[in-house]
Amino acid sequence: MTKKDKYSTYIYCSFCGKDNDEVKVIVSGTGVHICDECIGSANQVMESYNEKSATPKIKKLSSPKKIKANLDRYIIGQEKAKKTVAVAVYNHYKRINYQPKKDEIELEKGNILLMGPTGTGKTLIAKTMAKFLQVPFAIADATVLTEAGYVGEDVENILVRLLQSADYNVKQAERGIIFIDEIDKIAKKDWNVSITRDVSGEGVQQALLKILEGTVSSDPPKGGRKHPEQELIKIDTHNILFICSGAFDGLKTILERRLNMNAMGFSTNRRQSKQQKVSMAQIHPEDLINFGLIPELVGRLPITADLTELDKNALLKILQEPDNALAKQYQTLFELDGVSLEFEEKALEAIVDLAIRRKTGARALRSILETILLDTLYELPDMPEIEKCVITADTVLKMKPPKLHKQRKRA
Ligand code: ADP
Repeated sequence: MTKKDKYSTYIYCSFCGKDNDEVKVIVSGTGVHICDECIGSANQVMESYNEKSATPKIKKLSSPKKIKANLDRYIIGQEKAKKTVAVAVYNHYKRINYQPKKDEIELEKGNILLMGPTGTGKTLIAKTMAKFLQVPFAIADATVLTEAGYVGEDVENILVRLLQSADYNVKQAERGIIFIDEIDKIAKKDWNVSITRDVSGEGVQQALLKILEGTVSSDPPKGGRKHPEQELIKIDTHNILFICSGAFDGLKTILERRLNMNAMGFSTNRRQSKQQKVSMAQIHPEDLINFGLIPELVGRLPITADLTELDKNALLKILQEPDNALAKQYQTLFELDGVSLEFEEKALEAIVDLAIRRKTGARALRSILETILLDTLYELPDMPEIEKCVITADTVLKMKPPKLHKQRKRA
């Protein structure tokens, strides 16, 4: 191409400065010009702006019944908690999809508080739910969180984790689910004073409150402390669903005290004032406040559900029934080595008895199975003649080797 006379035929893009030799098209306005490349970039900016301005809807929102049916595939028992969470999550995403116009009724967000002993399915419910709805999900441990400025992890880092789970797609993150575990451990304890760590818990609760109630937080994309010269990403937490969870040891005593005091206060009958049997379903916000949660935080967790201790029957089911039950997982592992794995009924019961003694709910099942099966998992890959392995009660209780059956069928 011959070089044109710069002052007669050349037009320059007012945005990038390229001339008409360097781009395909230049559109001219009154005194300004824009090239096709800059039009493209401007379009992209507008698209991402439009996308970011509204939280994307969940296209096919399942009914609470369907959400619960999915939870039933993985979580044994805890019927009330599964129902409560299914309804709460359904309403939450319905609320996002509704996006009211001016003058229309605004639906308030209903974050959830799950209470119950360790290893009873609190995390599993939240995780299963997020997977089913295909929304980003992040788990945080309240005990490592601190107010900005203290030693520990800033509360805002939770949002960064959610953003990471959404592959840095801000709008997807903004409708995700955040699970905050051990929320009971940041209850106010007046007797703890430290100048480096906010062990009293109140500061962390205040910081959490901000993101729970809905704020636009500016966060460093990779987490960590903010630096003045660092690029920050804005995340709006208004549509993020928070599920907080904790064991709340001692809450039952607070509840009992309140109920018994009420009973005594209003009753002249001595028999009626006898200690009542209480259930966690009777928890009122005031009990949580007495436990040490600040009233504002309790107010932001309007939906509560309690999970119960898992009994022997439930643990037996957990071992065998869910879609990804532990027994099924190990059976698959063995199958990959061409061995069929069986558990005698008495062996399963012994595993469950051991788990109950450990007092960590269903959490104990996995570590017990790992210990029992370690030697077998180590030896079997080098024993091609074995086709069946049977775990007996003696394998569990006395660490005796399982029964191995030869004559593996050759393919
Ligand atoms: P937590 O209540 O302490 O959050 P988790 O939900 O993390 O307990 O449970 C730990 C593990 O125990 C889960 O990954 C799951 O394998 C098993 N588990 C606990 N409760 C149940 C349940 N109700 N049904 C099926 N599996 C369960």
